[in-house]
Amino acid sequence: MTLLDRFLAYVRIDTQADEHSSTSPSTAKQLVLSRLLAEECKALGLADVSLSEQGVVLATVPATVEHEAPTIAWVAHVDTSPETSGTNVQPVVHAGYDGRDLVLPGDPSRVIRVAENPELTQLVGGTIITADGTTLLGADDKSGVAVIMAAAERLIANREVRHGPIRLVFTCDEEIGRGTEHLDLAAVNARVGYTLDGFGKGVINAETFSADLAVVKVMGINTHPSVGKDALVNAIKILAEFLEALPKESCSPETTEGREGFVHPYAINGGVASAEARVLIRDFDEEGLAAHAALLEAIASRLREAHPKAAITVTISPQYRNMREGIAKEPRALALALEAMRQAGIEPSESPIRGGTDGSLLTSLGLPTPNLSTGEHNPHSPLEWTSLEEMEAAVEVLVQLADLWGRERG
Ligand SMILES: [Zn+2]
Repeated sequence: MTLLDRFLAYVRIDTQADEHSSTSPSTAKQLVLSRLLAEECKALGLADVSLSEQGVVLATVPATVEHEAPTIAWVAHVDTSPETSGTNVQPVVHAGYDGRDLVLPGDPSRVIRVAENPELTQLVGGTIITADGTTLLGADDKSGVAVIMAAAERLIANREVRHGPIRLVFTCDEEIGRGTEHLDLAAVNARVGYTLDGFGKGVINAETFSADLAVVKVMGINTHPSVGKDALVNAIKILAEFLEALPKESCSPETTEGREGFVHPYAINGGVASAEARVLIRDFDEEGLAAHAALLEAIASRLREAHPKAAITVTISPQYRNMREGIAKEPRALALALEAMRQAGIEPSESPIRGGTDGSLLTSLGLPTPNLSTGEHNPHSPLEWTSLEEMEAAVEVLVQLADLWGRERG
């Protein structure tokens, strides 16, 4: 099967995750793709193919070297973001891309503009794939899934590449932070992992945000508004004051980049009696996280004084941690990825990722797992797109990576 056909088949399967669900996977439809991948792994002739109840697929490309080369794992997630619909995805293949803005046929008000996507100018003449404007595309992370399957197919078909054991790992629910909950690392049994879940081409992410979630809760006092005088305490209004007090010119995703962190309210709900906001806290180090948490607590404390009858709490729970230190424990994880890109004819760049990946969680569990480019652009949006040539480059990088790790021992 061609890489393009694989990708198109995977994106047509609706695998949207649901953060309000408590089942695993969060949506049963993710299992449709997991089952298909397990079948395809068997059909390719991969070894040790397994599919767990929670939708995790594992398989092995058996070694072609005789010595004990380290086992490496290639990881991608089958689910797509809850932020944009993944139902009835109609991928549009723009072959021989002409360099112009891409008007999406299902909703012509949606236009992927070259001015906002300068990477497109490097891809003229190639094949761009978009959705039709009514859904996301799902290249995050079905480009990664397709790239891994295509690389495994190549290694199985051409046993001349000398490599150690390679574990394929497909997870569910990465987009809602539960990608590794049901992943048995002992069963993966690898020295290093690589997530294929990255932007563009030639980028390695070996550093991610550290992340906490803050839930700001205001308990008010509800009465009938006719008798509200001196009795009613409106939680909605107090929560609005809290949100208004958050920094705007700094510390927000809208106003920061690079290594700057932020606090980001992303969901509110409630009524007069109680209202809450969910706030993402992101930074590259612990001190930064602590400073953001202190800021939220300072606002809450001011509001407690102003509204003594209300109860205001800020509850913080950890989400994931920067992978920098965990990756440093196995220096080859990064060094060989850089070398594999060079061997594939790509000048690599390293960049910290302003988010988390399954790799952040895996690294904290003891499997150093940097993230590699797979041609993702505008993830989670109806303006999402990918490039066939960037995906092909990612396949080549994996083959080179297999070759380089195949020369290693221990
Ligand atoms: Zn992803």
